Amino acid sequence: MPSFWVNDGKAELKDAAHISNLGAREVEDAIRNELGGSKIRVAQTGLAGMNRVLFANITNNLGHFNGRNGFGALMGSKNVRAVAALGTRKINFFNSDFLNHTAKHFAKTFRDNPLGEALYTYGTTAFPELLSAAGALPVDNFRRSAVDDTTPISGDTYNTLLLKKRKGCYSCPIQCKRAIALDDPPYTLDSRYGGPEYETISALGTNLNIVDLKAIAKGNEICNRYCMDTISAGMTIAFACECFEEGIITREDTGGLKLRFGDAGLMIELLEMIARREGFGDLLAEGSSRLAKKWNVENKPFHLAVKGQELPMHDPRVKVGVGIGFAVSPYGADHMTAAHDPFFTDENSFMFKSVKPLGIYKALPATEITHDKVRSYMRLENLWRTMDALGLCVFGYAPRGVMSLDVMVQSLNAVTGWDASLFELMKAAERGSLIARAFNSREGFSIKDDQLPKRLFSPKPDGPNAGKKIFEEDDFKKAIELYYEMIGCNSETGRPDRGKLLELGLEWVEELL
Ligand code: SF4
Repeated sequence: MPSFWVNDGKAELKDAAHISNLGAREVEDAIRNELGGSKIRVAQTGLAGMNRVLFANITNNLGHFNGRNGFGALMGSKNVRAVAALGTRKINFFNSDFLNHTAKHFAKTFRDNPLGEALYTYGTTAFPELLSAAGALPVDNFRRSAVDDTTPISGDTYNTLLLKKRKGCYSCPIQCKRAIALDDPPYTLDSRYGGPEYETISALGTNLNIVDLKAIAKGNEICNRYCMDTISAGMTIAFACECFEEGIITREDTGGLKLRFGDAGLMIELLEMIARREGFGDLLAEGSSRLAKKWNVENKPFHLAVKGQELPMHDPRVKVGVGIGFAVSPYGADHMTAAHDPFFTDENSFMFKSVKPLGIYKALPATEITHDKVRSYMRLENLWRTMDALGLCVFGYAPRGVMSLDVMVQSLNAVTGWDASLFELMKAAERGSLIARAFNSREGFSIKDDQLPKRLFSPKPDGPNAGKKIFEEDDFKKAIELYYEMIGCNSETGRPDRGKLLELGLEWVEELL
């Protein structure tokens, strides 16, 4: 079993058999000791990836995750445990003065903005309170949208109980990541693995009816030690718990385990079993969609996945654009396809004003499902694809962060010496999205795969919209068809239109379809 070692541009394969069964922290330490240097950066998949848990992920330096889509399983299937890299060459920028000035100004001023201040103070750990108040927090496998008392999982409780240090990506002053510590068996924590962020607090917590931050943090540590996506891991456990409630599986299937919501000990036991593919964990390691097929419950409301990927911790019933993103994303349910609807409901907010250069001129209610919403989603999606392509964090730039889209473009030009415009970047993003869609179309995916799970069409159970049915399934279907028309794809087959391919300079794609 090898690992890759990239040293100032020279690459070699090294034997990693002697470390392959260790936890992610031990592997990182061993690689740095062996190759000599704390500056070595390590991307690795853990035991979950080597065991091909379908939602295994890749961790970078223990605290940053390529969390979704099972890339760790892919890495494990190639028998690669880690990629280690060290670079010492200087990077030359076209306009260093602009970059230095912008970075200093941002570091000085980002906390003047309430979003920047909240991210620094709480990271994303304030979201459970906010979303619960809005009736948008996944609870009880999306059967509820709020918890009675958010105190045990609030950002303040987190900071008091767990926070050891704020952490961040290289040179980022926002420091939205957390190092946590706790010496309280059985929940003693290793601070090297970082602390749970919002998605994890909900996926391993509220969605399983667990409101104990210590247990959630332990679950987070286990996932990070073995390199597993916390969202899909939590959602797969929730799916199995509801199948058990419904009598679809019994103790005979689970090896004697009684599955139930609200059992923190069970959550932790199952995570260990999944990573090791032990007993019932071997089944759960296949993810909820394969199990739904196996147990013949694919169309049941408790199977909450799109294109085989479990839902992230956001409720499309109160954020329609997020629902469109869940459905149309070429790689399954994803909450990172576009900025979320609540940022654009107030025309006086700086978030709304910041996206006017994209041609978004109308503030819309988060629950609206009209052609205006589809168009707005489409443009926001292009912006986030741009940020993905440039490797930018959405918390830094508009609309979610304080740096404007102008500064984003100027920064790119200052790094590269290009003379790019926002228009060109949007077109590049469109090209990327259309190529992904063309690939999916060739592989047999079409609009029939762009569907939300049935539970999301039921009335809201609680929160400010309790009892209301936000939109009908048919309205949502029409919105997706309109999205296809707007992006220039056939709404039956998903195949890009010839005119759209020509407009984007992608005529070569036609030959591959
Ligand atoms: S780059 Fe983004 S994710 Fe990383 S610390 Fe800064 S705000 Fe957080």
